[in-house]
Amino acid sequence: MKLYIKTFGCQMNDRDSEALCGLFLDRGYILVSEPEDADVILVNTCSVREHAENRAISFLGSLKKITNYKLQITNYRFQITDYKMVIGLVGCMAKNRGEELFKKMSHLDLIIGPANFDKVPYYIEKIRKEGVRIIDIEDKERKEDFYSSSFRVRKDYAYVVISTGCSNYCSYCIVPFVRGPLRLRNPEDIIDEVKRNVKLGIKKITLLGQNVNDYQYRLSAEGSTRGSTRGGFASGEGFASGEGSASGGQITDYKLQIIDFVKLLRMIEKIEGIEKIDFVTSHPKNTSRELFELMANSQKIKKHLHLPFQSGSDRILKLMNRGYTKEDYLNLVNDYKEIVRGTLSTDIIVGFPTETEEDFFETKDVLERVRFKYAYIFKYSPRPHTSAFKLEDDVPLKEKERRHKILLDSQRKISLEFINEK
Ligand code: SF4
Repeated sequence: MKLYIKTFGCQMNDRDSEALCGLFLDRGYILVSEPEDADVILVNTCSVREHAENRAISFLGSLKKITNYKLQITNYRFQITDYKMVIGLVGCMAKNRGEELFKKMSHLDLIIGPANFDKVPYYIEKIRKEGVRIIDIEDKERKEDFYSSSFRVRKDYAYVVISTGCSNYCSYCIVPFVRGPLRLRNPEDIIDEVKRNVKLGIKKITLLGQNVNDYQYRLSAEGSTRGSTRGGFASGEGFASGEGSASGGQITDYKLQIIDFVKLLRMIEKIEGIEKIDFVTSHPKNTSRELFELMANSQKIKKHLHLPFQSGSDRILKLMNRGYTKEDYLNLVNDYKEIVRGTLSTDIIVGFPTETEEDFFETKDVLERVRFKYAYIFKYSPRPHTSAFKLEDDVPLKEKERRHKILLDSQRKISLEFINEK
């Protein structure tokens, strides 16, 4: 059987697609590079921006032709009447628009949200055998088995997910609604996955979380994380962090109560065979000096930080529910530059509701003062479920495009300076 998978969106989706491929390869499937050649097509989607959803919908629409064509060819050549090519819409858009698309697109056989990816091969089998259509967009904790396959797209480099979902509720962001609340992977499962990568010859890893600094894993009384309460809790909730030690990725200190992101990094750093570690994304509101000190002193952690600031206007930051001011952000950047002496990148949104020219120039000011190595600059688009969705999208598209271009031009110059400085 042949699988084709198309991925829209971020590194988290890339890793999810890789893990999905692994589940199928372990069942004897082979991967193909053209949808026309496949028996199973999976489209892993992103809902963060309307544009990404529209591209995925257009791709899903184009698959209808392929199913018709394949049916004709197959029936003609082999007189098979029960041939079934299976098409699945998986990921964030399944959760956000799955019910609507299930009704509109009869050629979609499977719609499944990010929480239930481990079930995809089982559902595909069921669809093939029983000719049913399935929709499963229930939100729950992901099964650890999902990460079990040894398939990796690259031989030198791997992504490792440390948490899924997010509970920060930035007012423009759909992630908490499509990927669910923050859920933490057990640190021992993360370490095992890193070690499995090392066994495959992989020496560089990127740790993935919507906000890695939210990682705060609560341990059981026995000191082992196995069998302890899964999942985490928001920082600031009642546990004092004891002094712990971790050697070679093993958790050894019974007094340790919480493993936060810095401790997790320290444990991963000690794994023999790992040479380079980086991570995305860091929310400015809880990125710490402790993290910077670890980055500065580590031979393995990359001296680069992706630190989205989104807007330089305090008024807009408040409307975005980001939890910091322009001054807080610039102070954090100063600490980072002083301690780590590394590079920075960022995410910016222009044209958030009510953004004035003055607000925009505050954003431009941050971009020019910080001098990011690179920046992802987006035009605001309202996302359903979010609290900003209720605000009038009152910055005209032309104005968003103008502001977008101004920032892109500024950033291009700065990025060029980085290239020339090399
Ligand atoms: S931190 Fe904010 S922007 Fe990032 S995923 Fe969570 S809600 Fe979205």
